[in-house]
Amino acid sequence: MFLENVMKKLFIGFSKNRLLNLFAVHCHILHPISRAFVAGETMDEAVDVVKELNKDGCAATIDILGESVIASEKIDEVVSEYQTLIRRIHDEKLRASISIKLSHVGLSIGRTCCDANICRIAETAEQYGIAIEIDMEGSEDTENTIEVFRMLLKKYPMVSFRLALQAYLHRTHECDIEKLAEEGVAIRLVKGAYKESPLVAYQHMESIRGVCAMLINYFAREDVCARGNHLAIGTHDQILIKHAKHVLEQMALPKNTFEFQMLYGMCVQEQHRLVKEGYKMRIYVPYGTRWFPYFMRRMAERPANVWFVIRGVLRGLFDGEIRKRVFKTLKTMDKKAHQDR
Ligand SMILES: Cc1cc2nc3c(=O)[nH]c(=O)nc-3n(C[C@H](O)[C@H](O)[C@H](O)COP(=O)(O)OP(=O)(O)OC[C@H]3O[C@@H](n4cnc5c(N)ncnc54)[C@H](O)[C@@H]3O)c2cc1C
Repeated sequence: MFLENVMKKLFIGFSKNRLLNLFAVHCHILHPISRAFVAGETMDEAVDVVKELNKDGCAATIDILGESVIASEKIDEVVSEYQTLIRRIHDEKLRASISIKLSHVGLSIGRTCCDANICRIAETAEQYGIAIEIDMEGSEDTENTIEVFRMLLKKYPMVSFRLALQAYLHRTHECDIEKLAEEGVAIRLVKGAYKESPLVAYQHMESIRGVCAMLINYFAREDVCARGNHLAIGTHDQILIKHAKHVLEQMALPKNTFEFQMLYGMCVQEQHRLVKEGYKMRIYVPYGTRWFPYFMRRMAERPANVWFVIRGVLRGLFDGEIRKRVFKTLKTMDKKAHQDR
């Protein structure tokens, strides 16, 4: 437990380190390893992955990787890439929604910037009939993210929006869920992937799982369903998956009352099993060059992944071509650091 906490802290720390990010993006040694959890660097690669998932009976939600962007010209590029992605989903008849981190479209600058940009994306989504999922980030952004979600619901009633809520945050079960459920919303319930203080978040798996189970029960209640609320459960946790299935059975609810969601590349057999059993399954498919923070959060969740990376890096280092690239990247970064000073 102690070691797991240290590892978690370390990898979440890495995910926010600018130099490591720069290194990962420019150095090709980690690129093949990142493919375990990332569909690729381009939209074409993500679309190919989604086509395969659709063939296997899974829907997808496509995320363009990136977060905490503060350069407005970069945000403009992200917005237009999301708009292109929406058109692509529509034109290629993919069974897919898009997932967005608000700090990728301006929340790190401020609400005005974020609202303007997310609205540009929502307008395109409205035009093409594509659903939008809003990811949840660190707790400092929770309040704003919920407010933006509410603004979107009001302004674009024809668009399907879903909001991710994190079970580890005290506020989720203390107030957010009930307030939102009064309005009839679609929620993606996840445990939470960031390092949060014990003042705001549960730290132990048992408590977090307990909150998840409680909220699954809540969304199966007749009065809650009747208000049009819909729950997607974003987890790979066998205990929670079993619990959700059991609740549906006990309440005699149809299997499509809940949607299961999993991350691309994880528990693939379980994804197929659930589809075969008749449950709704959606896979979160991230793509893009800014994969490092996402990848580090996956490391933080599961220390066993670290050995997978070490093995990959060692294999890469014995490959002469990759060794040359590492040195070249380090040299470029050194030069850039001198120029920045
Ligand atoms: C579709 C989806 C969307 C998400 N969106 C958000 C979001 O918006 N905001 C947010 O904070 N978090 C998000 N998360 C991440 C989530 O909060 C958890 O950090 C993550 O899902 C791990 O918790 P778990 O319940 O899946 O699995 P755990 O209980 O941590 O583990 C259960 C099993 O899942 C597998 N597993 C779990 N993690 C990994 C991994 N990294 N690598 C390999 N196998 C693994 C293992 O087999 C493990 O035994 C999302 C998760 C999913 C599935």
